[in-house]
Amino acid sequence: MNIGVIGCGSIGREHIKRLGGKVSGTKVVAVFDILEEGAKNAAQLAPACCKVYTDVEAIVNDPAVEALVITSPGFAHKDAILAAIRAEKPVFCEKPLCTTSADCKEIVAAEMAAGKHLVQVGFMRRYDRGYMQLKELLDSGEFGKPLIAKCTHRAASVNDSYTTEMAVNDTAIHEIDCMPWLLGDDAWDKVQVIMGANTKNAHEGLSDPQVMIMQTKKGVTVILEVYVNCKLGYDINCEIVCEDGVMNLPCPSFPTIRKDHKVSTMIEQNWILRFIDSYDVELQDWVDNAAKGTVSGPTAWDGYIAALTSDALVKAQKSGQIEKVETGGIPDFYQK
Ligand code: NAP
Repeated sequence: MNIGVIGCGSIGREHIKRLGGKVSGTKVVAVFDILEEGAKNAAQLAPACCKVYTDVEAIVNDPAVEALVITSPGFAHKDAILAAIRAEKPVFCEKPLCTTSADCKEIVAAEMAAGKHLVQVGFMRRYDRGYMQLKELLDSGEFGKPLIAKCTHRAASVNDSYTTEMAVNDTAIHEIDCMPWLLGDDAWDKVQVIMGANTKNAHEGLSDPQVMIMQTKKGVTVILEVYVNCKLGYDINCEIVCEDGVMNLPCPSFPTIRKDHKVSTMIEQNWILRFIDSYDVELQDWVDNAAKGTVSGPTAWDGYIAALTSDALVKAQKSGQIEKVETGGIPDFYQK
């Protein structure tokens, strides 16, 4: 499958490398970035014949491009996805689907009108080995129903452009998507955000850490700590308390070191390394299904539900109250 990549920043370049490498049956044949220089540099990661575009419509409509990978910033996703849907080409879009739920709804409507499953969203946690193992245990029924989940999403630091709302839209968005999937639930029911003591390491105006308390439609309570200036590394944890047992997400394995009267283990540095294998599996699954005209991973509907949940969480950040997540039923088109 010949791929066009839109947006050649950090994850765009990572995906270009894996689409020409670990992910089989694909080749990046064209790239586009708002900055031509960025696209030219990224093209060097792909085969010599990779074309460089300076226009979204042109790369989408290039007959040599069979499918699109969108790795531009969230605000630029909508136009590129709609162009791909118009061209009836499969599209893998990094999270978030779009930055507003209204824009996500437009994508859902356009895809349904096209009558074809074309869009997959880059919620790669669903492809992480540890999360998949947890899901298998939960689905086995051996531990009874899940009751409570306690999650941490910690990053070493963020830059000054990171806002309090981004703790929801950019960071918690991964748990917002993957927890209902993991727990076998359709969506969220209500959410609340607690902002208390701030770390001295947060820049001015940023509330960090934040605790998000969310309940799924089946009543599972998820307590999520988002702490993006924790300094200690990129630290993702998840504990699920069930009726008949408690399970924990396995952490990536590193050697334990005994030295100076201590036993220590490394913590991953960043998201690129922590989820490096998940991205490979995710893109391979997208490619394999796109070739058959299907989508097996997170759909545009999942992206829309995540955006609606983000809206409720951002509202809760401001109100300090419990906010309802209004999602409505899943259209038949998106029933799995
Ligand atoms: P980034 O490093 O800022 O890269 C984005 C690139 O797109 C930059 O080169 C940017 O150019 C370019 N760009 C800006 N406007 C554009 C437009 N209208 N059309 C095409 N390209 C445009 O950001 P990133 O960290 O790679 O993130 C990209 C996307 O991936 C975001 O949606 C982000 O949330 C998502 N992401 C997902 C994960 C994950 O774990 N799944 C991890 C990281 C990022 P300029 O620099 O000149 O603006």
